[in-house]
Amino acid sequence: MARANKDDMPKKSMPKDVAISTIGSHSALQILKGAKDEGFRTIAVCLKGRERPYQSFKVADEIILIDSYDDFAEAEKKLIAENAIIIPHASFIEYVGLENVNKLKVPYFGNKAILPWEANRDKQREWLKGAGLRIPRIFTDPKTIDIPSIVKFHGAAGGKGYFLAKNEADFRKKIAKHPETKKYTIQEYIMGVPMYVHYFYSPITNELEIMSFDVRYESNVDSLGRVSARDQMALPEIDPSYVVVGNLPVVVRESLLPEFFDMGEKVVAQSKKIAPPGLFGPFCLEGVITPDAHFYTFEISARIVAGTNPYVTGSPYSQLRYNESMSTGRRIAREIRNAINQDKLKLLLG
Ligand code: AMP
Repeated sequence: MARANKDDMPKKSMPKDVAISTIGSHSALQILKGAKDEGFRTIAVCLKGRERPYQSFKVADEIILIDSYDDFAEAEKKLIAENAIIIPHASFIEYVGLENVNKLKVPYFGNKAILPWEANRDKQREWLKGAGLRIPRIFTDPKTIDIPSIVKFHGAAGGKGYFLAKNEADFRKKIAKHPETKKYTIQEYIMGVPMYVHYFYSPITNELEIMSFDVRYESNVDSLGRVSARDQMALPEIDPSYVVVGNLPVVVRESLLPEFFDMGEKVVAQSKKIAPPGLFGPFCLEGVITPDAHFYTFEISARIVAGTNPYVTGSPYSQLRYNESMSTGRRIAREIRNAINQDKLKLLLG
C-alpha cells in the first residue's frame, strides 16, 4: 500500500516553469484547479465567449482565446512557448479531432496509441473482451434480436436518439424515424443500475487506484419513472433518450470493490498488449450492475471523465488514500509533479 509514500508528497524542487493546459470545457475547471493546487501555472484555451467560468472560478493563470477550434494550431504555438503540457478530456479530443491530436507537437499527457481503441466501438469491445470483462451481447443483424436491446448511434452527441427494441419488427419501426443514420450498434439492454468507475493508473508506481464513482443524470430517461405507466401510454410520443446533463456522486457497496480493482487491472494489462506502453492516467469503465451483482461494461473512456467533476475536493475514496483534497484533476498534476521530480516525465507524455 503506497499511502503516504514519499513519492506521493509534493516537493518544493519542482520546475516552476511548467504549465498545465487544457481546453475550457468538460472537466477543465477540475484539471486546472488540481494543477494550481500542485503548484503549476495554468492556461485555459477557450473559444471566445466561453471563458467566463475559467475567469470567475479563478483556475486559469492565463486564458488563450480562439475564434474556432480550427485555430487550435495558433494556440498550440503559444502553449509550446509557455512550456505547457496538454491534458486531454473528451471535449478536447472531439473539438481538436483525433487526427489533429496525433499531430500535436505540444507535450500531451497520455498514450495517443490508445485513442483509436477508444474511438471505435468494435475495437473497444475487442479490448474489453480480451481483458476478460463481462460485456453485453451485440446483434450485428437486426433479425437476430431476441432480447430487449438498446440501439446506439455512433458519434451521437451523448445518447440522443438511442432507442430500445425488443425484436426486429420493433427495431425497423423505430429506426425508420432516423433516416439520416448510417452507423449504429445494437446491444443487449442490461437491466440493472448504471455505474461509472473512475480509475487512475500510474506508470511510475505501476499501481491502479480507484478515484471515485458516479451515476449520470440523463434526460429524459431518468425522469420517465415520474410519469405513470398510464400517462406514458396516453403519450406515445415519449421516447427515452440518454442525454447526459449532469453527474451524481455515489459510493458503491463495499463488497463490490475487489471486483472493480480486478477489472481495472485487467483492462490496463490488456492495453499494454494492444497499444504499448498501454493505458495510463485516468480512465473510466461504464456499465450496469445487475441484481445478482454482475457488472457489464458497455464502454470505456481512456481519459478523465466528467463524472469526476463532483469531486473537486476529493471523493470518499481519495480521502481514504490521500487524506487531502485529491480530485482526479489534481491526481494528474501530482503524477506529472512526481515524474518531474524523478526525472521520468517521458513516461507520461505521448
Ligand atoms: P453510452 O452512449 O454508451 O454511454 O450510453 C448512454 C446511456 O445509455 C448510459 O449511460 C446508460 O444509461 C444507457 N446504456 C447504454 N448501454 C446500455 C446497456 N447495454 N444496457 C442498459 N443501459 C445502457
